[in-house]
Amino acid sequence: MSVSHSSKLNKAVRDQYMKLPQGKKVLATYIWIDGTGEGLRCKTRTLTQEPKSIEDLPEWNFDGSSTGQAEGSNSDMFLIPIKIFRDPFTLDPNKLVMCEVLKYNRKRAETNLRNSCKMVMDLAKESRPWFGMEQEYTLLGINGHPYGWPENGFPGPQGPYYCGVGADKVNGRDIVEAHYRACIYAGVEICGTNAEVMPSQWEFQVGPCEGIEMGDHLWIARYILHRVCEDFGVVATLDPKPITGNWNGAGCHTNVSTKETRQKGGIKFIEAAIEKLSKRHQYHIRVYDPRGGQDNSRRLTGQHETSSIFEFSAGVANRGASIRIPRQVGQEGCGYFEDRRPSANCDPYAVTEAIVRTVLLNETGDTPKEYTDEAQLQTASLKA
Ligand code: ADP
Ligand code: MN
Ligand code: MN
Ligand code: MN
Repeated sequence: MSVSHSSKLNKAVRDQYMKLPQGKKVLATYIWIDGTGEGLRCKTRTLTQEPKSIEDLPEWNFDGSSTGQAEGSNSDMFLIPIKIFRDPFTLDPNKLVMCEVLKYNRKRAETNLRNSCKMVMDLAKESRPWFGMEQEYTLLGINGHPYGWPENGFPGPQGPYYCGVGADKVNGRDIVEAHYRACIYAGVEICGTNAEVMPSQWEFQVGPCEGIEMGDHLWIARYILHRVCEDFGVVATLDPKPITGNWNGAGCHTNVSTKETRQKGGIKFIEAAIEKLSKRHQYHIRVYDPRGGQDNSRRLTGQHETSSIFEFSAGVANRGASIRIPRQVGQEGCGYFEDRRPSANCDPYAVTEAIVRTVLLNETGDTPKEYTDEAQLQTASLKA
């Protein structure tokens, strides 16, 4: 069986309960990144009134020893609310709350990369960096087999599936449409979706988002994806190469612009950005997946619309390059560029931080710069 038991529970019975009034009470689902740096966890609590801003949401805690996040015998971790979205599953006035994780000593948890991203975004905020990320993913049955693929063997070779239409071209469009609508309802800046090159692989795009917003919105969009898939009884994997062989992998192309690149003649700032990126390829590869480049080494082979992990390249309309300048941007002489290297399972906080460090803060070399405590104190704050 490829869909879960729970997805087959009687949904009419569920709906009867979901229609019960909830008075003035509000359900807030706190969401956080777990110790893998990829997985999401959530838990829900009752609030006595609707939170109007992030300050109205209490800090909370959880057992870090069950999420791969605790240190020694101090297993209590803090959840610090950072952004509120509407809950598309239990509807208004209920909320989804993206959180940062702090350790018992109130220092950031290992996989909490938002705090340093926020600091770097604050340092570069005059440049108004915008991002748009293209999240690719693959639907799997709960047996781990690509959803809708023949039980034994493979579908026909790639070609007809990208942006495909028809029951013999795409699998699981219900999920894609439900996710899109749920993101819109929640307040996520989702801007598009399409079927991908490998059957049962899809993409949605989020953006443009300024600064720290990129990570916040993409993480909630991922939460909504996993949650919608749960309802349908299948799994969305962000593995960058779910099927080996002649099948496309999954990336998270990251589109970037600044005040300068968006203005007339901005192409020269795009070219300058590419020059800086070309000198820091290893550093970027290291932060573009959660295992320091190991995951991406299965994907960035130089085949299947990817560049080689070993060398930096750039070009107009070149989908085999590390960085692509979209044709339209080349023609208009301003706009944005696309970094095609990030893996589907990247942490958008880490990716956008690295790009800003290199392109806007002019960092060079293999290690990120440590900014002074003073600069951090002035600019870093947990809340967006
Ligand atoms: P592709 O042709 O690479 O498949 P998509 O249409 O899938 O491109 O994605 C384009 C992405 O570019 C979207 O995420 C969108 O938000 C982003 N984008 C568009 N304009 C800008 C901009 N000025 N700055 C940054 N990102 C942008
Ligand atoms: Mn795309
Ligand atoms: Mn794509
Ligand atoms: Mn792209």
